[in-house]
Amino acid sequence: MELETDILVIGGGSAGSMAAIVAKEQNPDIDVVIIEKGEINRSGSIAMGMDALNIVVQPGITTPEQYINSARIAAEGILDYQPSFVMAERSYSILKRLESWGIRFPRDEDDKYISLQVHAKGKFLLEMDSPELKLVLAEKIREAEVRVINRTIITSLLVSEGRVNGAMGFNIRTGEFVVCKSKSTILANGGCARFSLPNSGYLYGTFDYPGNAGDGYSLAYRAGAQLTGFEFTQCSPLIKDINCPLLYITLTRGAKVVNALGKTIDLEYLSTQTMLKELREGRGPIFIKMNHLPEERIQEIERILFTTERPIQKKFWENRGVDFREGLIELGETEYQLCGGHGLTGVVVNEKAETTLKGLYAAGDVACVPLQHLTGAFVFGEVAAEEAVAFVSNSEQRKINEIVWKVEEQRLLNTMDANKTGTVSVQDFEYKVRRIISDYVVPPKNETKLNRFLWWLPRLKKDMKNIKISDYHELSRYEEIRFILDCAELSVIASLTRKESRWGWFHYRTDFPEKDDENWLLHVVLEKGLKSGEVQTALEPIKNGGV
Ligand SMILES: Cc1cc2nc3c(=O)[nH]c(=O)nc-3n(C[C@H](O)[C@H](O)[C@H](O)COP(=O)(O)OP(=O)(O)OC[C@H]3O[C@@H](n4cnc5c(N)ncnc54)[C@H](O)[C@@H]3O)c2cc1C
Repeated sequence: MELETDILVIGGGSAGSMAAIVAKEQNPDIDVVIIEKGEINRSGSIAMGMDALNIVVQPGITTPEQYINSARIAAEGILDYQPSFVMAERSYSILKRLESWGIRFPRDEDDKYISLQVHAKGKFLLEMDSPELKLVLAEKIREAEVRVINRTIITSLLVSEGRVNGAMGFNIRTGEFVVCKSKSTILANGGCARFSLPNSGYLYGTFDYPGNAGDGYSLAYRAGAQLTGFEFTQCSPLIKDINCPLLYITLTRGAKVVNALGKTIDLEYLSTQTMLKELREGRGPIFIKMNHLPEERIQEIERILFTTERPIQKKFWENRGVDFREGLIELGETEYQLCGGHGLTGVVVNEKAETTLKGLYAAGDVACVPLQHLTGAFVFGEVAAEEAVAFVSNSEQRKINEIVWKVEEQRLLNTMDANKTGTVSVQDFEYKVRRIISDYVVPPKNETKLNRFLWWLPRLKKDMKNIKISDYHELSRYEEIRFILDCAELSVIASLTRKESRWGWFHYRTDFPEKDDENWLLHVVLEKGLKSGEVQTALEPIKNGGV
């Protein structure tokens, strides 16, 4: 399939959906295409809805400056001022946009939005009641007449002379090769959920949407964009065995965390690091306790947990015979992930969502706007759309040499052909890759351990020829393993570069156990070396906008 469009959006999750809707709103005459790996009605981190918009600066109540102070504390100083400021400044209008689409933000008896404190300074989290949020976005996309190509995985960007001119991939079911030429491209394909293995050992039993395998990081890296924050390897304490989130929903409504010794854990700002410490220091298992809460509170919590994000939870608890009125909810440590929404990892962007490549914008978890959550995905979806619309009005469709996409098509065909007789299932191979990531890439880190992964890397790449590929779905999973390996390499190089410990456990180096603000209040920036093909590193100062 050969497509041509003004704006190509890669990934139809939160950021990509918003970007496509806003681009058509800005100029209904331009053509917008979304290429989505899954099916847009339910794909991405929001499969159903969400219970909160985690960052909203309400006029007259909080200010963007307060938010920046809070975010700086959370990011331990590794945060540029401008993109986070823009996100905070535009967050209230995002709320109003969502309200105008029928998304409900509950209010209290004084008619004020219900806000909760999960940040160090200020109540920025606003409750949201939206079990159908993803369907609402999908409907808006249809209304705007955006062209959506579902079940198509992008495997490479079209790039020449530092400018991105579209992307290539294939349909996961039919294998049809897809090339889409575009005047500008918005990368919105999430973080890397499938990084280390979850304790359950289930490849897809991850906290974040398992369809995101670091595709966007790898695509941007291979195209020559700069990336940062790959040493921030994070995990969370969530519901053991199923990895569903519930901390903000329960703890902000009065639930407590108790350890195996029956002691209530004192949590400053719902600190996940404190909970993880209990587990690591042998006072686990730890549990959420709700039996002291009034019946209406428990019902409120059940309503959110059983409708909004993953309704499967209801069945999960029923099957385990746990009733929140009496029973405890065991928490376990999730897998490690790389993410620009819950973490600090991503493609380098400025406040206009511009990457370091011309014509390429990035929004949401794929971009590094630290701890931006859903608010960032929506705000930078808007920003990227506005900028891309302005960009395409002054630019022509580039002529692209057909050979470029024939090479990518042939690479995929060759892989399919050569791996027909492979002997290792794609599942087993992914298991091995992620088991080795669990062994060597995640904390606690040290130079020897991180280098062990670099010893494994060429062997794993070579062994990919043994993967058995029988259909296009398996080919897509082969491609995802490539993305995961790229992410692991980037993470190891960044972790080796940052010779200090920071962000508690998330970048804890036993050979440099102290935080060193004097030397390391810097970004570790990664880029593909043009000649060597190896990862190049640079240390960049924090752009603090004079604050
Ligand atoms: C369980 C959970 C609960 C959360 N709760 C909250 C909350 O209450 N409040 C809040 O503010 N934030 C919350 N967040 C964070 C928030 O949901 C995310 O930050 C945000 O949705 C990310 O949007 P995104 O568009 O970047 O990624 P996604 O929505 O994940 O979209 C990425 C899309 O890209 C597609 N894709 C990936 N690779 C490719 C490829 N190679 N080719 C084509 N398509 C591709 C995927 O299929 C997916 O549809 C939560 C996150 C999770 C996982």
